[in-house]
Amino acid sequence: MLDHDVIIVGGGLAGSRAALEIAQSNPNLSVAIVAKTHPIRSHSVAAQGGMAATLKNVDETDTWEAHAFDTVKGSDYLADQDAVEILTREAPDVVIDLEHMGVLFSRLPDGRIAQRAFGGHSHNRTCYAADKTGHAILHELVNNLKRNGVKVYDEWYVMRLILEEGQAKGLVMYRILDGQIEIVRAKAVMFATGGYGRAFNTTSNDYASTGDGLAMTAIAGLPLEDMEFVQFHPTGLYPVGVLISEAVRGEGAYLINSEGDRFMATYAPSRMELAPRDITSRAITREIRAGRGIHLDGRAGGPFVYLDLRHMGKEKIMSRVPFCWEEAHRLVGVDAVTQPMPVRPTIHYSMGGIPTNTDGQVRSSAEGLVEGFFAAGEAACVSVHGANRLGSNSLLECVVYGRRTGRAIAQYIQNRKLPDLDEAPYRQQAQQQMQALLDQPGQYRIAQIRQAFQDCMTDYCGVFRTEDLMRQGLDQLQTIRQQAQNIYLDDKAKNWNTELIEALELQSLLIVGEVILSSAIQRKESRGAHCREDYPDRDDTNCLQHTLAYYSPAEVDIRHMPVSITLFQPQERKY
Ligand SMILES: Cc1cc2nc3c(=O)[nH]c(=O)nc-3n(C[C@H](O)[C@H](O)[C@H](O)COP(=O)(O)OP(=O)(O)OC[C@H]3O[C@@H](n4cnc5c(N)ncnc54)[C@H](O)[C@@H]3O)c2cc1C
Repeated sequence: MLDHDVIIVGGGLAGSRAALEIAQSNPNLSVAIVAKTHPIRSHSVAAQGGMAATLKNVDETDTWEAHAFDTVKGSDYLADQDAVEILTREAPDVVIDLEHMGVLFSRLPDGRIAQRAFGGHSHNRTCYAADKTGHAILHELVNNLKRNGVKVYDEWYVMRLILEEGQAKGLVMYRILDGQIEIVRAKAVMFATGGYGRAFNTTSNDYASTGDGLAMTAIAGLPLEDMEFVQFHPTGLYPVGVLISEAVRGEGAYLINSEGDRFMATYAPSRMELAPRDITSRAITREIRAGRGIHLDGRAGGPFVYLDLRHMGKEKIMSRVPFCWEEAHRLVGVDAVTQPMPVRPTIHYSMGGIPTNTDGQVRSSAEGLVEGFFAAGEAACVSVHGANRLGSNSLLECVVYGRRTGRAIAQYIQNRKLPDLDEAPYRQQAQQQMQALLDQPGQYRIAQIRQAFQDCMTDYCGVFRTEDLMRQGLDQLQTIRQQAQNIYLDDKAKNWNTELIEALELQSLLIVGEVILSSAIQRKESRGAHCREDYPDRDDTNCLQHTLAYYSPAEVDIRHMPVSITLFQPQERKY
């Protein structure tokens, strides 16, 4: 058994920032990060457009209150406002902090950090490093991990959270290199395992975004919060789904339909292309449904719309959004200086997740907390995004709540001993589970089941939803779940068996998918990203509350939790 004071799952922005905070609070602590990828390959590295903070470098009239209001309005009033206040108040400080660590933000001519416009933000407040912001931040954080003595287990897959009598005691993990199973014991366990974009068939997320942390939490009997809120990013490159950052619209690009119209004038006249993502994604989907999408040969009636950068000019495109230009050029052969890019909505972000309080401690219910268990970043739901996240607020959340959770953990473990833990049954079960997967005869390939599952989620729980559609989806999911018991693996090796990892990831995805569908069916209103054609209005009387979904193989049990409303009363959401 391995012992650490703290073990953190996930080496993205949230996990790395927390680890640094703990290690710096006391150099004698043993802090470890475990990640199934190398930390540098966490999805955070792909973040493009930037990170919001009211530095006031471009717009002196900006305030944290304005940032908080934009965030709460963007969330369709479901965000917890005490958590939003912390997020927006601490934002300038965490940016300066990153800068002092060595992050190279883009500059204004006078040397101060530059800030650009972003969807749903009323001021130019998004700090960025061209369109490679995640890359710039994550590289510095990971460099700093080494400097601060954080132990990194990279390319280990965490299979299970060890939770006994309401206390997190450690993890079961599997070394991908050689199939070794280890039990880790710790005074505090933290999950920073990112999102689940791979639950859908078109996504901006990386292959590792399979919701493992959410599934492990659910299997341990703990709730997941607000899982019905799945963000579609309006501009996924057609047909691959890869992200074209909102920064492109922040820098002035237009959305155009087959008739050459800037159709956002119909949907959000005051914000146009910089409306929040839920509204823009629905607008694009409606245009495509109405026959005003475009085909690859330019005819009307096709599956995408255009994102037009041409009027921005080569110099601006190449200096502000060079990576997006390169992606379109490399992946679909479009030169955005002279041609519009084909785009349509793509699955992007998980607003819901593991419920936590504002110190990152995981909730066991609306009132209770789990001893020794913390979470932050996209995997967590402290609920700063409510029903719809604003662009550039996620990197911010990772860093603000990564740092806060790190601080809380450093406090929590003071004067605590390592928990008592008998590792033998956990090791034995994990070995049996892996061997069973290798041995089972099975009749389905993993890719076949995964594709059927991703199509099911996309078709039955997409941009527009109805009860009928989602019930059909849930039925289909039961069949897929049974088939998934019956997969076979070609690769029987112990070393570097990625097929075995894919089998485990598929199990995570199926659990997450079931929780999303069950949560979405019970929310009988339209709010933020959750758009029900059978309940088109927001219903503050009956539905202004968080969903807490408890998973079991037999059913998903839904309960609720109140929303914290401390700053702004709900009002109609118009742009
Ligand atoms: C293409 C793209 C662009 C984006 N651009 C922006 C932007 O400009 N601004 C913004 O605010 N947000 C942006 N986002 C969102 C933002 O990047 C993410 O929400 C955020 O980076 C998530 O960070 P994280 O630390 O929570 O998780 P991640 O960075 O996803 O890291 C998850 C970690 O968990 C590990 N892990 C997961 N499961 C296991 C397991 N079973 N065992 C071991 N390890 C595991 C992974 O290996 C990884 O290290 C973007 C997202 C995408 C996909």
